[in-house]
Amino acid sequence: MIVAEQKPIEEIVQSIKPYKKLLIAACGTCVTVCMTGGEKEAIELCTLLELVSELEGIQIRVKTIERQCDREFFVDFEEDIEWADAVLSMGCGVGVQFFAELYPGKHIVPALNTKFFGVTRDVGYWTEFCQGCGECLLEKTGGVCPVARCSKSLFNGPCGGSSDGRCEINPDIECAWQIIYDRLKAQNRLDLLLETLPPRDWSSSRDGGPRSLRKSSVYLEVD
Ligand code: SF4
Ligand code: SF4
Repeated sequence: MIVAEQKPIEEIVQSIKPYKKLLIAACGTCVTVCMTGGEKEAIELCTLLELVSELEGIQIRVKTIERQCDREFFVDFEEDIEWADAVLSMGCGVGVQFFAELYPGKHIVPALNTKFFGVTRDVGYWTEFCQGCGECLLEKTGGVCPVARCSKSLFNGPCGGSSDGRCEINPDIECAWQIIYDRLKAQNRLDLLLETLPPRDWSSSRDGGPRSLRKSSVYLEVD
């Protein structure tokens, strides 16, 4: 899922200060799961903003758009969006941009800082697993991503700086290549490490510019 965290309240207040009617738009998907931009957090943010003296007199509505990256989920909110001078979106960066594209005349203010694609490790703790590089090589690395989880995104073994299985860049994280080694060993597949991965064509990643994906055929089943 996409992991995000809320912006500092001071930054949000500065962005919405000029407006008198504000729609806070929670998003019901990833940011709800990471407890940052869901309905509960939107209501809490609303309560907080109503206490800020700089925003005295502001009217605030809170609505949850199930998925702010999908047009069909906006249909029930036309009246609220029309009513608002500005929208404080609690979606990820994708949701904010799609909202702004659908309503180009409306100021859509981001409430979150979008961080990464990650997994839930514990309550309130997420770690990065994927950078959407466009050419997945997990088959070669025991299901551990060297792009996202090695600090140097190394493809052919460790840098040599790890210590006790921790990364030399940040000892708080595990060395991805130590995990890859341990995983392949457990699977009796260490021979994979003798295979040198060729230089990568990064055009399938961000180096090729903004990407898009179109299914060549989409079948719709109608009852
Ligand atoms: S190799 Fe690429 S697609 Fe696969 S997990 Fe890593 S970043 Fe994501
Ligand atoms: S210590 Fe491990 S994770 Fe850190 S940069 Fe080196 S190989 Fe990558």
